[in-house]
Amino acid sequence: MTILYEVHDNLYVNMTNRCPCACTFCLRQTRDEMNNSGSLWLEREPTVDEVKAEFKRFDMDKYGEVVFCGFGEPTERLDDVLEVCRFIKDTYGKTVRINTNGLSDLIHGCDTAPRFEGLIDVVSISLNTPSKERYLELTRSKFGIESFDAMLRFAKNVKRYVKKVVLSTVATTLTEEEEKECAKICAEVGAEYRIRPWED
Ligand code: SF4
Repeated sequence: MTILYEVHDNLYVNMTNRCPCACTFCLRQTRDEMNNSGSLWLEREPTVDEVKAEFKRFDMDKYGEVVFCGFGEPTERLDDVLEVCRFIKDTYGKTVRINTNGLSDLIHGCDTAPRFEGLIDVVSISLNTPSKERYLELTRSKFGIESFDAMLRFAKNVKRYVKKVVLSTVATTLTEEEEKECAKICAEVGAEYRIRPWED
């Protein structure tokens, strides 16, 4: 099963297929892999030791960043992800990014942001839209209408513990006015706003 895979100059980590959302745009609905990774559907969740062992199969000097992003929400396994982050920092000293839906606090029922300190450098969160109602329509989060505000609260909190927080939307999916609203939200949160290219 594919635990690590390359995307451009970075190495991606796929540790879970669990996710509290069922986004209408989720790429898992239409494909099994990314960038010729091999299937990102896991037969079972790999143990932390198995994930660490996988890194030895790759030439780590080749990669700029290690990115936690696969066919699922990485913070579903927050303890295990952070243990792997510690290993990456101690062994390779690499920049670590996590691509997340930002619902970690709802998944774990507590403020998870402080735990990211010293282990994760960049937190990239899918903002999707400036509207909480539209966010729920798009993500179909099992946590319901409180999801959008919880995601923004997490973004604001985690900014105190990591170098950079990025909130992103997808090009062509929002009006210019909505993108301006997203930029305003990002400024309030203290996050960078990124409009990422559409991927089908
Ligand atoms: S949060 Fe990510 S993995 Fe989960 S359903 Fe949405 S796009 Fe897919």
